[in-house]
Amino acid sequence: MRSKIVAGNWKMNKNLAETEALLTELAAKLPDTQAEVMVAPTFVNLAAAVHTLDSSVIEVIAQNMHFAESGAYTGEISADMLLNIGIDTVIIGHSERRAYFGETDEILAKKVKAALAKNMRVMFCFGEELDDRKSDNHFKVVESQLKNALFSLEASDWGKIVLAYEPVWAIGTGETASPEQAQEMHAFIRKTITEAYDASIANNVSILYGGSVKPANAVEIFGKPDVDGGLIGGASLVADDFVAIIKAI
Ligand code: PEP
Repeated sequence: MRSKIVAGNWKMNKNLAETEALLTELAAKLPDTQAEVMVAPTFVNLAAAVHTLDSSVIEVIAQNMHFAESGAYTGEISADMLLNIGIDTVIIGHSERRAYFGETDEILAKKVKAALAKNMRVMFCFGEELDDRKSDNHFKVVESQLKNALFSLEASDWGKIVLAYEPVWAIGTGETASPEQAQEMHAFIRKTITEAYDASIANNVSILYGGSVKPANAVEIFGKPDVDGGLIGGASLVADDFVAIIKAI
């Protein structure tokens, strides 16, 4: 059985006091849910976030990590550093990392392997750009992103993978994929994984949708059979909105 997951990606937002305040509010308002709830604050506030959420089921996750164990990588963070402060899930491949920080499929494949080697859980993000969709290349692009970064993994690694399909044209734009577009792509992703591995792996991996999920559209999107939750940007920065999205699952 695959898990339902709602994760908030806070990106480069919220200082320490704001992080603690939002987490305290979220923990207090968290609805009763079977879904896993995760938040990804900025690196400098991760340890404080873990401490603030000590007695909550909300999991703190990281937005990124480097593939090297340690060494001369100024400004970077290793898997061990995350594990050391109690974080064992990491987002890899967010479209903003790909677009602004030059993260290629090859780099992402290394990051995924490095995280898995440390027994971390990986939330792997991917999705097509607007031009890809307009030119009807979106399935091809998504297939190649998955193949390049994930399809050399062992079958046994897939228990530690969560997928987040995030069409780039829907991230932070207010544009959302329709529930039908999300379902169509999620079903395609499962078919692609079935072909590369098998149906059991495809059916057991959680596939989240990301891209302008809001309280107003979450019920419809999460209602689709192959959508197992969401990766939420903007709306996760407002406790009541994030809570409403969690309720929608
Ligand atoms: C994201 O950045 O992962 C995201 C989905 O952002 P937003 O919800 O703001 O579109």
